[in-house]
Amino acid sequence: MARVLAVVNQKGGVGKTTTSVNLAAGLAGKGRRVLLVDLDPQGNATMGSGIDKRNLARTVYHALLGLSEAASVRARSQSGAYDLLPANRELAGAEIELVELPNRESRLKSALAPLGAQYDYIFIDCPPSLSLLTLNALVAAEEVVIPMQCEYYALEGLTDLVGTIKRVRAHLNPRLEIAGLLRTMYDPRNTLAQHVSAQLETHFGDKVYRTLVPRNVRLAEAPSYGAPAVVWDSASKGAQAYLALAQEILARDAAQEARAVGA
Ligand code: ADP
Ligand code: MG
Repeated sequence: MARVLAVVNQKGGVGKTTTSVNLAAGLAGKGRRVLLVDLDPQGNATMGSGIDKRNLARTVYHALLGLSEAASVRARSQSGAYDLLPANRELAGAEIELVELPNRESRLKSALAPLGAQYDYIFIDCPPSLSLLTLNALVAAEEVVIPMQCEYYALEGLTDLVGTIKRVRAHLNPRLEIAGLLRTMYDPRNTLAQHVSAQLETHFGDKVYRTLVPRNVRLAEAPSYGAPAVVWDSASKGAQAYLALAQEILARDAAQEARAVGA
């Protein structure tokens, strides 16, 4: 069964989509079967996967509202070698329409259930809010990946997010765990960044990924070519960091499986 990871941070511009797209392509490149769910009405993960969000008859919106099977909404990212549940502006309406529906927090979980056996990893790229869409991701996922920039307010935002994760765990999804915190756009010469990074390690220990993603313009350029940076310019520093992160995730998952077998 697929491991389902939600890529979450209520702050915009911290690297959620860049992380989702490059991890999806990075793990696909290592032979894993990957599905990426674009859960942001901005459709950046869709465009960054090389799929034109303007030409879609059906999107994740239809799967959430039960108007289509998730399987029939699926598109293939040729550049990234993974499958995608695409999104566009229509998804913004789901936020309101879902409120009226039964099981409004678990619609995504139900939609993904028939696909679980077809993948090794499912990533959910979340919108920049702790909205009903993000709640659906937190209910569908087993684990949360939190990309963050090492700046002063980041820690405050993290407290809110950890609080939300705890509430979801208490009421809706008891198995939900933080997979890891990912330091993005990291500048090692910036002393505030060093300080925040050290604080993260103190508070979250092993939950902080060893891999640091540096600020690298190739990561920002790749989406305009409709391809993940790990494919488009795999030698770039940014791509190398995401490939290392994919390796770190595989190693952690292998260790966890070994523990589960031993237990
Ligand atoms: P989010 O999904 O959290 O809003 P994005 O992944 O879209 O964040 O990143 C915000 C912007 O920063 C985008 O233009 C993206 O291309 C750019 N970006 C993301 N990560 C990096 C990085 N490590 N170095 C340089 N630019 C980055
Ligand atoms: Mg995004």
